[in-house]
Amino acid sequence: AAKKLGRNRWQFYHGAMNEETRERLRIEGALRNALERGEFVLHYQPQVDLASGRIVGMEALLRWQHPELGMVPPQRFIGLAEETGLIVPIGAWVLRTACAQAKAWNDAWAPGGLPPLRVAVNLSARQFAQPDLVPSIAQVLADTGLPAACLDLELTESLFVDDVAQAVEVLHQLKALGVALSIDDFGTGYSSFSYLRRFPIDVLKIDRSFVADIASDADEAAIVVSIIALARNLKLRVIAEGVESLAQLEFLRAHGCDEMQGYYFSRPLPAEEFERMIQSGSTLAPAAEPELLPA
Ligand code: C2E
Ligand code: MG
Ligand code: MG
Ligand code: MG
Repeated sequence: AAKKLGRNRWQFYHGAMNEETRERLRIEGALRNALERGEFVLHYQPQVDLASGRIVGMEALLRWQHPELGMVPPQRFIGLAEETGLIVPIGAWVLRTACAQAKAWNDAWAPGGLPPLRVAVNLSARQFAQPDLVPSIAQVLADTGLPAACLDLELTESLFVDDVAQAVEVLHQLKALGVALSIDDFGTGYSSFSYLRRFPIDVLKIDRSFVADIASDADEAAIVVSIIALARNLKLRVIAEGVESLAQLEFLRAHGCDEMQGYYFSRPLPAEEFERMIQSGSTLAPAAEPELLPA
């Protein structure tokens, strides 16, 4: 009878398990082996200085190529990796790989007189909470030889909610290493002006949801103009994400945004393609006639 009950129960659960749950379990199982099987790669999206039109850095973005599931987008597995803690070893791999790549590119193409390329790496909440975060980053910099000033750590506002005092302490330790700290997806999370004052932040990245309609929606435009002004007044660098059109680009340039990232210039690229792009000296078209831009 017990056996029968167990079987029925299993059938009940199985029947009730929806497509989404099954998919989740599959991904979670596969995620456990992905690192050792070498299924991760990084793609690099150029960050372009709006004044000079030059590529000044790149964001490393994780890609998972599973033999059966195919290319699994980060939105489908980063959350799971967070919940399971797998993000810690995966994130460590991302950091090491991105730093080694940036160092290799800078050694090969240190463009005469120009500053070296910076690499931006996304840091998850779970990584941020690791007690050995700061020494482990210092170790990666030492091992790869990448100057700390070339590393940009992207954090989200959600990291600052739990224990503000602790977060401030960790951020100061990271700053002491010489790395730059960015707020990713700025404006979408728990936004408080007080943390901008308390936290040693260097860069604001305007979320692409604000950038999408700047050329057509006055409210969105006002928000973006305000974020740029805020950044400039606080002496922070400001980067717009998700720039897809010339109209958006011109708007950002006219309002003094420092850098842009987006499909208009380039999608995130595999390392070999990114390399070809920098080797070819690819730049953004220069600004329109200055007199055409609003004062
Ligand atoms: P994010 O850090 O905000 O990265 C920007 C996302 O916007 C990337 O999506 C990029 O491909 C996409 N994007 C760039 N330009 C455009 C554009 O012009 N239009 C549109 N529609 N999208 C654009 P992706 O690569 O799918 O990554 C999604 C998110 O996954 C990232 O958002 C980041 O939060 C997370 N992620 C990616 N790699 C890592 C990683 O190594 N570690 C951690 N913790 N999270 C990562
Ligand atoms: Mg990012
Ligand atoms: Mg972002
Ligand atoms: Mg985003």
